[in-house]
Amino acid sequence: MTGEQPPLLETIEEVRGSLAAVRARGGTIGLVPTMGALHAGHGALIERARRRDDCVVVSIFVNPIQFDRRQDYEAYAIDMGQDRRYCAELGVDLVFAPPAAELYPRPQRAFVEVAGVSEHLCGKFRPGHFRGVATVVMKLFHIIEPRRAYFGEKDGQQLAVIRAMTRDLNMDIEIVPVSTVREPDGLALSSRNRRLSPAEREIAPVLFRALQRGRDTVLDGESSSSEVIRAAAEVLRHCPGARVEYIEVVDADTMQPAGRITGRVMIGAAIWLGATRLIDNLVCEPPAAERTS
Ligand code: AMP
Repeated sequence: MTGEQPPLLETIEEVRGSLAAVRARGGTIGLVPTMGALHAGHGALIERARRRDDCVVVSIFVNPIQFDRRQDYEAYAIDMGQDRRYCAELGVDLVFAPPAAELYPRPQRAFVEVAGVSEHLCGKFRPGHFRGVATVVMKLFHIIEPRRAYFGEKDGQQLAVIRAMTRDLNMDIEIVPVSTVREPDGLALSSRNRRLSPAEREIAPVLFRALQRGRDTVLDGESSSSEVIRAAAEVLRHCPGARVEYIEVVDADTMQPAGRITGRVMIGAAIWLGATRLIDNLVCEPPAAERTS
């Protein structure tokens, strides 16, 4: 059964006015920031927020300053009617969907730069991307003032960037990580999956399989990152349709290259299938004996 459509607010003033009433009655606000084209991955974040917070706000905003390629920004198609219906089904209280000029009424001068965690993985290949993400999330935090904000582990580096930002800038907002939602064949749900041709969709799960191979190598006791990367790359090498952008093993918190694996690491990878870029990651730890040695 579909719930009542949540209000869709487009201005900062309206959303602040509406949330002031929630705060006045002591309710907590949970924010789920998205770029729309909602799917069950976003749904998992919303459901988690629903369980924890009194008022769930979903923001839908395709943030121009986080795109390093203009075509990618322009190709980012969302259907607001469909997204709003999905939010209604999941019991969202309010949708904040500002036009670009509402968040960027003039050229942006202030930016949030999170050093270190933004450097490797996607940061190396998408200049300015995490600065754009951190800046828009900071804006959303100031506008919505949530108690908690929900982010997917699917974008593991983004999660680390937002965590570092809130810690380093003493923000009283709990960042809640949510596990990656996958298709039965392992492919992580993503708005970009719908751009894949049927042939590309068929081979796309190779990314997850490569990460699994990397993880298994760590679990088998391999402590050299380059060996883990080699094992994962081997899976992708047998898939001629996939072009590897990067495979890296980084410390799961600092996002710095791990070298020797002694603690919790994230194996992250990005591949291109035709014109579509897919990213995914897995977090794992070496066997206990390795850790203590
Ligand atoms: P996006 O709309 O792609 O910017 O994603 C908005 C939020 O949903 C981010 O915190 C993502 O990490 C999260 N998300 C996207 N896909 C998934 C997924 N398959 N599983 C869990 N979270 C996801």
